[in-house]
Amino acid sequence: MENYDVIVIGAGYGGVTAGALLAKAGKKVLLVDKANQAGGKAQTIKRKGYAYEMWPVLSLPADGSRFHDLVAELGIEEEAPLIVPEGDNAIELKYCDVNGDWRSYIGPSKQVDDPLALDRMEETFGVDAAGVEKLMAMMGEIFVLSEEALDDLDDVGMLPWMRSFDVPEAVIAYMSAIMMLVFVAPVDRIPVSEGVRTMRQLFLGGGGRYHQGGYGKVAEEAARYIETHGGTYVPNTRVEEIVVEDDRVAGIRTADAEYRAPVVISNAGIQPTILKLVPEGHFEESYSKRIEQLEPGLGMVGVRYFLDEPVLDVGMIVAFSNDSWWDTERYEGVQLGRWPEVPLVFAAVTTAYDNSLAPEAHQVILVGTLGSPDPRSEINDEAIRRVEETIAEIWPEVPEHTIRREPYTAAHVSNMTRDSVVPGQGGECIGIAQVIGQCGQSKPDARTPMSGLYIVGTDAGGYGCGTHQAVESGFNVAEMVLEDHPA
Ligand SMILES: Cc1cc2nc3c(=O)[nH]c(=O)nc-3n(C[C@H](O)[C@H](O)[C@H](O)COP(=O)(O)OP(=O)(O)OC[C@H]3O[C@@H](n4cnc5c(N)ncnc54)[C@H](O)[C@@H]3O)c2cc1C
Repeated sequence: MENYDVIVIGAGYGGVTAGALLAKAGKKVLLVDKANQAGGKAQTIKRKGYAYEMWPVLSLPADGSRFHDLVAELGIEEEAPLIVPEGDNAIELKYCDVNGDWRSYIGPSKQVDDPLALDRMEETFGVDAAGVEKLMAMMGEIFVLSEEALDDLDDVGMLPWMRSFDVPEAVIAYMSAIMMLVFVAPVDRIPVSEGVRTMRQLFLGGGGRYHQGGYGKVAEEAARYIETHGGTYVPNTRVEEIVVEDDRVAGIRTADAEYRAPVVISNAGIQPTILKLVPEGHFEESYSKRIEQLEPGLGMVGVRYFLDEPVLDVGMIVAFSNDSWWDTERYEGVQLGRWPEVPLVFAAVTTAYDNSLAPEAHQVILVGTLGSPDPRSEINDEAIRRVEETIAEIWPEVPEHTIRREPYTAAHVSNMTRDSVVPGQGGECIGIAQVIGQCGQSKPDARTPMSGLYIVGTDAGGYGCGTHQAVESGFNVAEMVLEDHPA
């Protein structure tokens, strides 16, 4: 039996951030993950001559992110360089207009740095001068709302809020497509408090950050940091149980060993942690019930394409039409077989960021579209069929040059990361849904009611876009642990 100051379950971005920062603060940290690679949902694997993520992962803000704070704090900037896209062809928005014609907006990562942004918006989305004025009024509000005013908008959804500016439908489509990719939740239920804060980060810091060596490289280096700073990293090992003694945390149990610590930080998801890893009977019924009732975010499903020739030039591409985004009604419609004409397409051309990730002149394109978080859902195969159809229509060269194709569904997401412990949950793209009642001031507390047990990652402790939120949560939870357990 080995003793530690802190045990971290899971080497996703939340887990490695909290673990590495606590190791830096002098704590003896044990990091355990069931996967053999750090990075969780955003890990990079190496297979058959390619290094790639399991699905598209690019993040925002591109610049000035919590990832920048993390690599600086750990002094690993050289081992894990961040790629902030530069130049005028960093992102592409492909919009299918009401006549079914595709229009393209190619621009820099940061729209605020683009003197042509408004012209491009007008041209691509067919917005007239009156529409631009309304758009500007909405953008102005995004930048001027105070923190207090935003907190007051915790219960107002982004869709009704955007509609209150009477912006053209194409602008709603553009903003909603971006928000669906950032939050992967129905747009009518994403709170303005979360939506506006994150949009601000996008407009100021840009979108489409990637990492040299793959998106998971920062996590790999942070896990290594724990090992070189007095801690231990145990991959390939599933935590079976959180050990509880006298109603406080005492350690963890794996199939072969028991490790002891007064603090356990779980990155395994709030529902798997509270409802499965902690033995029954240690929480008030009302707390367990609240956790059980948390709603998962939506799923993202798609395909990994490996090409024998580069056919796409831009690293981050989003394709959509006016009906690609989902609100609650549209999501319910999809479950009844009412699909949009054009699915939302998110493509990360990772080799456009780092061409050492594939054999010379080959290209990796990771594609995602909206789906169900339920690992058993039947809609996900249809979502994949439809997104592939759209890809073949927009870029016929992609299927022509594909030498390997790997589809993935919510079942793969769940297998790779969090267990499904509540019906319909497990394959969520981000974590618990960032919707009214579950985020902003209503987000579950990263400090659980059990002394010594903390949740880290996208379910508690942070806000914003996926991996960025996880790193932010890691910073906040490390701070909580140091505050609660200074010695
Ligand atoms: C298809 C898809 C596309 C995405 N695209 C983006 C994107 O473009 N940008 C972005 O920022 N985010 C994106 N995300 C979301 C982002 O990847 C996640 O929100 C984020 O990585 C979650 O981090 P986390 O720290 O909360 O935990 P996770 O990454 O879920 O990590 C949890 C870790 O815990 C481990 N674990 C779980 N249970 C146990 C156990 N019992 N014992 C031991 N270990 C355990 C898992 O193996 C895993 O490593 C995407 C996700 C998906 C699925």
